[in-house]
Amino acid sequence: MSPDAVRVELYDTTLRDGAQRADLSYTVEDRLRILHRLDQVGFPFVEGGWPGANPRDSEFFKLATKETLTRSTLVAFGMTRRAGERAPDSQALRDLLDAGTETVCLVGKAWALHVTDALRTDLDEGEAMVRESVAFLRAQGRRVFFDAEHFFDGYLTDPAFAMRVLIAAEEAGAERLVLCDTNGGMLPFDVARIVADVKGSAGVPLGIHVHNDAGCAVANSLVAVDAGAYQVQGTINGYGERTGNADLIPIAADLMLKMGAVDALPDGAVEHLTELAHYVAEVANVAPDSHQPYVGRFAFTHKAGLHTSGVARLSGAYEHIPPETVGNRRGVVASDYGGGATVRMKAVEIGLDLADEAIPRVVEDVKERESKGYTFDVADASLELLMRGASGWRQPFFEIESYRVHVEQRTPDEEPLAEATVKVVTKGSRHIESAEGHGPVGALDNALRKALTNDYPELAHMSLEDYRVRVLGEQHGTGAVVRVLIDTSNGERGWTTVGVSENIIEASWEALTDAYLFGLLHPREAEVA
Ligand SMILES: [Zn+2]
Repeated sequence: MSPDAVRVELYDTTLRDGAQRADLSYTVEDRLRILHRLDQVGFPFVEGGWPGANPRDSEFFKLATKETLTRSTLVAFGMTRRAGERAPDSQALRDLLDAGTETVCLVGKAWALHVTDALRTDLDEGEAMVRESVAFLRAQGRRVFFDAEHFFDGYLTDPAFAMRVLIAAEEAGAERLVLCDTNGGMLPFDVARIVADVKGSAGVPLGIHVHNDAGCAVANSLVAVDAGAYQVQGTINGYGERTGNADLIPIAADLMLKMGAVDALPDGAVEHLTELAHYVAEVANVAPDSHQPYVGRFAFTHKAGLHTSGVARLSGAYEHIPPETVGNRRGVVASDYGGGATVRMKAVEIGLDLADEAIPRVVEDVKERESKGYTFDVADASLELLMRGASGWRQPFFEIESYRVHVEQRTPDEEPLAEATVKVVTKGSRHIESAEGHGPVGALDNALRKALTNDYPELAHMSLEDYRVRVLGEQHGTGAVVRVLIDTSNGERGWTTVGVSENIIEASWEALTDAYLFGLLHPREAEVA
């Protein structure tokens, strides 16, 4: 490390603050999987939950403290004693100790208004709650990080009290003073100024914990580091209550690639950020954000014609970093202009050795399909299969013999149930599998998956992420044509396939079989070393 390198410490709270997101809930197993992945990538601190706040969190710590972690320190989060209570009598502090972690993160109120109006006690007691709670945890042998809740709002209205609370925590033995923008409304200018002010009075490293309500969480985290904060708290993909927490994915990349904080994660870890973002999304069952900075599927996808040919020749002039740096890939949107140059570039992107004479055929195929209602803007997997087909490639993985699906509602009160049967030949043997589903596409997916996993067990990792249908209107004097787009993920990357037909089942089946075919063509890479 060079002497002037920026020093930071990343602190992940995907499992605790991230779980506050409205549409998200983890099982205990999900949490353990995410914990291990964060440990593999090398986040120094992982906050696992709030023991005592709900039974699942306590159960998680029982299991998690038995796991072997190589790089991460597991942290339990909790509250100070209540007003008027003795620290040894505090159930909240007892729960925190019972979690059994060496390090704890204690949250306390730093905004005078909250002490007087929410806790309904005086400021002396507000300070004592923090001081005595930290001292009690220290006396029990814990390392303590102190989260100063609503610190920035508190500092703007009553800086003397906000500072009193921080100093009390430090004097009682807290190792980090984490300044929180709990309401998420701060702007970078204020954050930078306040962190620099506080830095002058604090004897231990500062941390920053911000929410994204004003759209500034990443920026606020970075300016805080620039102003002297050491610990950065956030969540993978920015999961969190309301608009979310600071997203540690762009924060880690910005810190390491642009701010000189080269030791923020271990060597090689930055290349796993794309995979990590997708993995956590998959476990959390949240559709990945295709436009997420650095790691989104389209983060390096270029569209305008001139621009695209420029990218092929001079990528550095059009991209802020090479996509491989963070484990992402460059993409090209191929359909708008259908020129040979774009097709050639797409071929290079997917590693396909496309002969010159195949290129006009691909352009022709794309045009013809688009006139029928196909779209290749996002259906990158279908486009790749089309290009491979035009160059003479025939897929060796499976042969569909037939499929069938029916939907039945036996009594008016019963949910209709779909059942599908698929006949497939793989590696010379014939598989006939049936499965049920809530809808016909789900049933077909289940049956096809069963049939293919006989010979391709790796497909068990694949899951359908999204299914979209659009009615394209009447064409050629026949019925309405529908277009189906299916997003699939294997936990490492996502892809989209398209199907078009007058029959919604047929269109779905086309997109579905292409999705599996693409999954077989591009198996998952080895897990993170
Ligand atoms: Zn928070």
